[in-house]
Amino acid sequence: MTDIPESHPRYASLVARERVAQGVKKGYTSSQGLIAQGRGECFDYLLGERTTASAEAATTAAAALLLMAARPALSVNGNVAALVAEEMVALADALAIPLEVNLFHRSEERVKKIADLLREKGAKEVLGEKPDASVPGLDHARALATRGGIYDADVVLIPLEDGDRCEALVAMGKKVIAIDLNPLSRTARKATVSIVDNILRAVPHLTEQVRRLSDVQRADLERMVQEYDNEKVLRQATAEIRDHLERQFLP
Ligand code: ATP
Repeated sequence: MTDIPESHPRYASLVARERVAQGVKKGYTSSQGLIAQGRGECFDYLLGERTTASAEAATTAAAALLLMAARPALSVNGNVAALVAEEMVALADALAIPLEVNLFHRSEERVKKIADLLREKGAKEVLGEKPDASVPGLDHARALATRGGIYDADVVLIPLEDGDRCEALVAMGKKVIAIDLNPLSRTARKATVSIVDNILRAVPHLTEQVRRLSDVQRADLERMVQEYDNEKVLRQATAEIRDHLERQFLP
């Protein structure tokens, strides 16, 4: 990895950029993943590179949804593997469920590399190498999914996903949790719960919330989910961007 001094004002963002670049070199991440990272970086800059109140609210609702689910599933793509492989394993452990590799630009080689990486980081079960079902409404490679994983899940976490797949999963009747720094993306607008935060901060935070809420009564979890309003949270996220810009750059 390129040596980035910790004192650099953009340290966290440069480390993330380097991790995605390494992901491309090692074959986990597609070259298009670099562009997705650039878009994410831009929104993180606008947000002030912090976890906002709206992201906190969405993370709590997401943890409640995952804990209430009969069959929750966690999707991992090339950017997710490059940025938070270990943290996704910790989340899967906290929920005692498998991870599923699911790629936009699918190649069997890339799926295997990501599955191997997750196993190397301690994942107990990784799905996605032998998909046996298709999500309706998507073209073949992008539709592939696994029974016992994403295909028959009732709640799916899809970090850094595109709008089509999010919409197709919602159309199957699933509750979908997105992690996406762009509050205006189709994914953020279609998902049941959208965590507008950097995946580097969002996944450890979500695991923490899952652990914190694991003893909470089901009725209380249900209330948290019922009270959650995704449209309101996305409006709040855009207001948080505007407020940050006004305070920081245009006082
Ligand atoms: P949509 O179809 O939902 O409008 P898109 O075409 O903008 O999505 P992609 O280019 O597939 O989406 O990018 C994935 C999304 O992931 C982008 O909205 C980007 O802001 C977000 N993203 C990229 N990197 C990160 C990150 N590190 N943390 C959180 N979100 C990220």
